[in-house]
Amino acid sequence: MKRTLEERLQAGPVVCGEGYLFELERRGYLQAGSFVPEVALDNPQALKQTYRDYMLAGSDVVLAFTYNGHREKMRIIGKEDLLEPLNRQAIRLAKEVAQEHPVEEALVAGNISNTNLFNPEDEDSKDSIRNIFKEMVSWCKEEGVDFVNGETFYYYEEAKIALEEIQNQGLPAVITFGLMGENILRDGYTVEEACRLLKEQGALVVGMNCFRGPATMQPYVEKIRNTVDGYVGALPIPYRTSAEHPTFFNLPDGGCSCSLPTETTFPTSLDPLYCNRYELAEWAKDAYRIGVNYFGLCCGASPSMLREVAETVGRETVNSVYSPDMEKHFLFGSDQSLNTANTAYKTKA
Ligand SMILES: [Zn+2]
Repeated sequence: MKRTLEERLQAGPVVCGEGYLFELERRGYLQAGSFVPEVALDNPQALKQTYRDYMLAGSDVVLAFTYNGHREKMRIIGKEDLLEPLNRQAIRLAKEVAQEHPVEEALVAGNISNTNLFNPEDEDSKDSIRNIFKEMVSWCKEEGVDFVNGETFYYYEEAKIALEEIQNQGLPAVITFGLMGENILRDGYTVEEACRLLKEQGALVVGMNCFRGPATMQPYVEKIRNTVDGYVGALPIPYRTSAEHPTFFNLPDGGCSCSLPTETTFPTSLDPLYCNRYELAEWAKDAYRIGVNYFGLCCGASPSMLREVAETVGRETVNSVYSPDMEKHFLFGSDQSLNTANTAYKTKA
């Protein structure tokens, strides 16, 4: 018995783990910079384990890791011939992991995203983008995904092309925007207006992902919730972005003691700027309260963070059995069996 995305949304919050790009870079299997998901072909076991870790931490969806795996990126790295094998392999591995779920088989989502080619003035760029999406979504269809997630769009019109191509294959669409620091999409639409239009055009879920931490995403998620009458998704990055620095692209680290190889802490020096899991849980509680339906975390997220979010919105995850319990900690526990000489010592530890 495997319910569809829509059936699950009707029943309550759905969780989707994302952030494979940063996570696989952190694990050592992906190069920061070009950020191309060659791992599906080079180290399929590493990708499968990452999929598995997020699923067991509460993700209802195994999102095929094809972010940036499009023709333009593959051309830039000189590996266009690997384009189709990479896309198909990423989906097949996702399906294998989804079937391992011990309670209910996970959904498998295809993934298309910002191409960084879009130019509102240039019709050729729009044709190229449409072709990029068309071929990727056709592979998604052939490989049997449950829906397609079009994500991290910072132009409304690019997201609209993505939605159209997903619909042309008869698949449900989750479309989410990445909002840059100007707080408006780059073709001048507000993110809530863009979401409203895409919902009217048939997207099943609309919302936001990436670029922003909870503090600077949530105000826009609220606007979307107040504007859209369908399902709303929110997948922030787990970093402490602020009104002054609303995205992780320009997030400074005042405590850094060395010079960095990059102008910014993005993308490989963001570590000290993390939200902790309880801050993420606070966000999830707020988002749940206002009626967000589709929850996740994006670049930087770890499985334990995702599990905290899932549990906050009322979900028990497979790995909830390993959720924190300090009762038996040698210094901070309160269990009767502990050595009181240690627990009394805790403030000096
Ligand atoms: Zn992201």
